[in-house]
Amino acid sequence: MNQEGLATRCVHAGEIADAHGSPHTPVYTTTTFRFASTKHLLDVVDGRQPGSLYTRYGLNPTIQSLEGKLAALENAEMAWAFCSGMAAEAALFLTHGRKGIVCLGDAYGGTLELLASQLPLLGIPTHLLLGSELARLENLLKGGAGLVFFETPSNPTLEIFDIRAVSELAHRHGALVAVDNTFASPVNQQPLALGADFAVHSCTKYLGGHSDLTAGAIMGSRELLMPIWNWRKNLGSMIAPEVAAQLARSIRTLPVRVRQQNASAQVIAEAMRAHRRVSGVLHPGLPDLPGHVLASRQMSGFGGMLTIEVAGTGEDATRVADRLKLFALAPSLGGVESLVTQPCTTTHHGLTPEERARRGISDSMLRLSVGLEDAEDLIADLNQALG
Ligand code: PLP
Repeated sequence: MNQEGLATRCVHAGEIADAHGSPHTPVYTTTTFRFASTKHLLDVVDGRQPGSLYTRYGLNPTIQSLEGKLAALENAEMAWAFCSGMAAEAALFLTHGRKGIVCLGDAYGGTLELLASQLPLLGIPTHLLLGSELARLENLLKGGAGLVFFETPSNPTLEIFDIRAVSELAHRHGALVAVDNTFASPVNQQPLALGADFAVHSCTKYLGGHSDLTAGAIMGSRELLMPIWNWRKNLGSMIAPEVAAQLARSIRTLPVRVRQQNASAQVIAEAMRAHRRVSGVLHPGLPDLPGHVLASRQMSGFGGMLTIEVAGTGEDATRVADRLKLFALAPSLGGVESLVTQPCTTTHHGLTPEERARRGISDSMLRLSVGLEDAEDLIADLNQALG
């Protein structure tokens, strides 16, 4: 494991030196690579020698360089890069979830759709448990489920799950654990160090950080990542070299961005808690969040995401979202620009009102992704929109 600090790893890990002295890895956009001999080609094809071969396989220096950096972010033995977060999740589920997948708590809508509607078509058993149903996990594991998947903090209620406790329980029953670390980012949370087997990312969010690229990643041990390789290769879910280079560039500034976002989100959460037109604020850094103590233990920063509950109806919250000027009304997160979404009209629009209520998602909730603008300006924007 690399003992350098995270910021140092973000800048230097994975970079390859080229013949011209470039300070970071050049972009190799070629789809294929020449060999001096058939013997050398076969050595690379058969894995006897490292080398570049074909970009869709990931055997491309720019992609491999990115993967070195991604692995270093989570202090993992290996990482695979993908063309999206969903591509990463799909490859993980198809490789390691075939005995059954348990999803704990709320997850991104696309993940829930894949688990609830699509993987069962292939005969893969899937189980969606709310945080309040955690007691059912052990029985599902006894029943043979082989993979536990969850987000912590979760979306949009910022529920916190105990990575160490869930991992210990799953491992006792021979199951694997994957944590979607997108919301926290590796700056604030290190799932592998807490016992999880995989960290999964939508790199489209904090790792990309500028709302201008789509990518995904899985980090973990060599033993568990190698079987995923063929699925990624034949599903064709490889990241493009141009995007890999863009993502590596963004990761070099990840800690600076995320630490600033942590600080601004905390200030905004506190300001919103004192606002008379806000009836609730969910943020791991606020002591009133039920998961605050656990978050303080397993996270080193509380993240740039928060959810506010506007006092009034869902329509009142919609009006606030529509009146915001600096916070853009857009369904994503983790970028330098602040974004707002109303879960009942975006991420959780597909659920019935009863199902949303069961999940603790009210119509008057607004999810905020805090960017890099001045926190005072963001608070002023929220104040004018709240009226
Ligand atoms: N995981 C989380 C927590 C997400 O928010 C998203 C997308 O919003 C995904 C995974 C899927 O990522 P992508 O859009 O890169 O496929």
